[in-house]
Amino acid sequence: MIDGTIGMQDIRNQFPILDTEVHGHPLVYLDNAATTQKPVAVIEALDKYYRCGNANIHRGAHHLAAEATEAYENVRRQVQALIGARHSHEIVFTRGTTESINLVASSFAKRYFTGEDEVIVSGMEHHSNIVPWQLAGATMRPVPFSDDGVLDFKAMEQLFSPRTRLVAVCHASNTLGTINPIKEIVDMAHSHGVPVLVDGAQAVSHMKVDVQALGCDFYCFSGHKMYGPMGVGVMYGREELLNELPPYQGGGEMISEVTFERTTYNELPFKFEAGTPSVGDVIGLGKAIEFMLGVGIDNIAAQEGDLLHYATERLTALPGMRFFGRAPHKTSVLSFLVGTSHPYDVGTLLDQMGIAVRTGHHCTQPVMDRYGIPGTVRASFAVYNTRAEVDALAAALERIMPMLE
Ligand code: PMP
Repeated sequence: MIDGTIGMQDIRNQFPILDTEVHGHPLVYLDNAATTQKPVAVIEALDKYYRCGNANIHRGAHHLAAEATEAYENVRRQVQALIGARHSHEIVFTRGTTESINLVASSFAKRYFTGEDEVIVSGMEHHSNIVPWQLAGATMRPVPFSDDGVLDFKAMEQLFSPRTRLVAVCHASNTLGTINPIKEIVDMAHSHGVPVLVDGAQAVSHMKVDVQALGCDFYCFSGHKMYGPMGVGVMYGREELLNELPPYQGGGEMISEVTFERTTYNELPFKFEAGTPSVGDVIGLGKAIEFMLGVGIDNIAAQEGDLLHYATERLTALPGMRFFGRAPHKTSVLSFLVGTSHPYDVGTLLDQMGIAVRTGHHCTQPVMDRYGIPGTVRASFAVYNTRAEVDALAAALERIMPMLE
C-alpha cells in the first residue's frame, strides 16, 4: 500500500509490461535509471494522437492543427508547474537531457566563451554533461567526491577562477544515487558570478523539483525517465539568460523574419525549437506528469526510499558484496559488485532469471576510474517496484554466486 487511497496493485496494473515473462520468469524490471516503463495513460495518449489528432503545430489554420497546438502548449504549462518555473516560455522541448545540455553548451559557448574557458562539473557526471562542454571548447574542472560519493565542497570552492564560465552538475547521480545539494552549489557559484546548469535526468521522477527555490539557471531532463515517452525532454532556462543566448539550430518556427541577407529570431521559447517537434511524445509526457501527480511525488519518494533501504539491507547481508555510493541523501539506485566477478556476468545470469539490471560504466567512466573498477551492476527502482522484487533479486544473487566463482 502506497498510501490510504492508491494501492501498489493499482499502480502496477497501469503498467502492462510488468506482466511480461522473460526466460520463463516474471519480469523483475530494475533498470529504471536507464528508462522507466510507461503507464497505460501514456501509451493510449500516443495511440490516440496518431489515430485521431495528428497534425503539425502552430502554423495550421485547420481544426486538427489548432487542437494539436493547444495540447502541446498545455504540456508546456504542465512542465512549468511541475518544476516551478516562473514562465511557461522558459520551458523548451528537446529530444532529451542530452540534447538539452548540448543546446545550452552550444549557445552558451557562442555567447560567453572567450577562448580560455573552464566549466566546473562534479566528478560523478554522466558523459552527457561532460562531452558537450568539451565540444564547446571548455576545460573541465571536476569536483572530487568521497568514497561514499559525497562532493567535496572545500575542493569545489578552490576550483573557481576568472576563467570559470559555468557550473554543470547533476541533481542526482545515475551511478551512485547521490543527491547533490543544488541550492548550496548555486549559492556558491552565484557568489562568484557564475551560472549553474543542473542535469535533472535522475531527479525529476523521484523528488519535488522547484527551479526557483533551487535558484539554478538551467535545468535539463528526459521524459522517458519519468514514465513518459522516449524522444522528448526539457531544457528549462531563466528568461534573462535565454534571451541572451543565440539559437541552437536554425529552421522553421524559430524565426521571426527571413531574407537572404538577414534573419531575425522568434521569441521564447520558439527561438530554441527549430523544426517539427515530437508532438505526440510531448502530449505523452503530459500524461506521465499526470500519472506522477496522481500517485503523489511524496508517495513516490516514500515508496522508492523504502525499496532502497530494504534492498541495501538485503544485499548487504550477502557475502562478498561491494557497494558504490553510500551518500546519506540518495535516490533509489544501488550500484554493486559481487566479489571479483565481472558485472556483465552477473547481469547476464540475473537476466536468465527474469531480472533486468544494468551493467557497465553507466556512461560515467570518470566514476569508474575514481574507484578503479571497470563497471558495476546497477539496480534502480521506480514506484511500481516491490519488496518482493527485491527479495527476488537477493535470492537470485545468492543462487548465482557459486556459478561466478
Ligand atoms: N544525465 C544523467 C544523469 C543520466 O542518467 C542520463 C541517462 N542515463 C542522461 C544525462 C542522458 O539522458 P538521455 O539519454 O535521456 O538524453
